[in-house]
Amino acid sequence: MDKHHRGGKYPLLRVFTAVIMRELNVYTLIGDMFGGVKSAYATFVGYDEVTHHSGVESLDALDILRKLDEQFVRLESVAADAARPYHLVVLSDHGQSGGPTFKQRYGLDLQELVQQHARQFLVQGFMETNESWGNVNVVVNDVMQNDKKSGKWIKRAAGNNVQDGEVQVGEEELADDLKPEAGIIVLASGNLGLVYGTKRDTRVTLEEIDGLFPGLLENLVQHEGIGWVMVQSSAHEGVVIGKNGRYYLNDDRIEGENPLTGFGPNAARHLKRYNQFPDAPDLYINSFYNVETNEVAAFEELIGCHGGMGGYQTRPFILHPKVLPITEPELVGAASVYRQFKHWLAELQGSPLPAPAGD
Ligand SMILES: [Zn+2]
Repeated sequence: MDKHHRGGKYPLLRVFTAVIMRELNVYTLIGDMFGGVKSAYATFVGYDEVTHHSGVESLDALDILRKLDEQFVRLESVAADAARPYHLVVLSDHGQSGGPTFKQRYGLDLQELVQQHARQFLVQGFMETNESWGNVNVVVNDVMQNDKKSGKWIKRAAGNNVQDGEVQVGEEELADDLKPEAGIIVLASGNLGLVYGTKRDTRVTLEEIDGLFPGLLENLVQHEGIGWVMVQSSAHEGVVIGKNGRYYLNDDRIEGENPLTGFGPNAARHLKRYNQFPDAPDLYINSFYNVETNEVAAFEELIGCHGGMGGYQTRPFILHPKVLPITEPELVGAASVYRQFKHWLAELQGSPLPAPAGD
């Protein structure tokens, strides 16, 4: 197994997220329901962790879903015995896309590819995200604050990792590993790569790159594994560059072939938003997406991935009771999902509760 494979590096982490965190979550929710809490939200991260290593169609992934389903049945039966009615809404914040990773396909990673095209700089890569440690820390700290008995046990087990009453386990500080001579930093999030120049605080523009390093972007995007590169232009704002065409985000103008074909009807809309983030990278690089095989090429060494565009990763779901219909005109992006949940909460808390039976 690859030493960077998270399952190989942190086998206990997977046990913790898949089994222990699920139990802690269910236990906490049951306590909340018997205690009459108005609303509660819990994150079940085990499925995400397992599918990163096994893929969404694996037996391991399906097994986790079955076990989660059993827990939801348990919560439903507790809800039936609770002093007040409860509705269960289940949602995912993203799906996962699959396929061999970029490195498995082409024998080099994104850092090495960028280095080939930017020889003047030392390119440093951080090709592994630590999503799971963040999830573990949130749950552990939540339990510690809300449950005195388990809290004491966790504090003892965490030992030196407790600082100011908060547990911080497994977090590797990016800043500590940063080489001072690195001129370019490459970060990976699934099949999305983020490229930052370190020499200045403002974003480099398409015009500057073309002036200083003619052909760099075109050459980068010609690699078989790359779908498109998004860069800020001083004349056009966000520009998405594909192998045979460009998409100008400020006026939705397409030159040649549309590089966003196959990436879904909302691709340009999402990219316009990401391109305006104050901490936007100099380049967003997305792998190809093959519509026929439904595959992407992750820049992290993960079988299942999310973070970029293409495939199931941008297709989350909400499973909601019939008595709580969707009222948002369209559910696209986190803001509209948030509004929908606030609407349901206001409806339920402001008016007599509809009976959950027949959901
Ligand atoms: Zn994930």
